[in-house]
Amino acid sequence: MPAIRGPQSKSKARRHAAVRGLDLVHADLHSKKHLQQYQDTKAFEELPGGGLWYCVECAMYYESETNFGKHKKGKPHKRRVRQLKEEPYTQKEAEAAAGLTTDNGTRKVDQEMTTEVDEVEVDEVK
Ligand SMILES: [Zn+2]
Repeated sequence: MPAIRGPQSKSKARRHAAVRGLDLVHADLHSKKHLQQYQDTKAFEELPGGGLWYCVECAMYYESETNFGKHKKGKPHKRRVRQLKEEPYTQKEAEAAAGLTTDNGTRKVDQEMTTEVDEVEVDEVK
């Protein structure tokens, strides 16, 4: 009997299902070879609908044209398409976001921010 609540429930399981990363899907959209390589890793007999109805953006297989059409009109698909319009982050951008940059400009900004915080604290004491 399928669980209604908990990690084994249908909705929870779907929520934690492995989703193909945006960067990989981005590569799929730009290179047919990349997509083919990914699809070759799956046996089509095991896929819903024999792997015929595949949404590249969402990396999801659908069991019929009706379901596929419905999905294409749906909110999750449109959200995904919007996300994919942005270029995936590069390693450099990720490092910059984590503050691992060697650029001295950012360090100056950090110092300015701390002085601002100090001033605010002094004002509060008065
Ligand atoms: Zn989709």
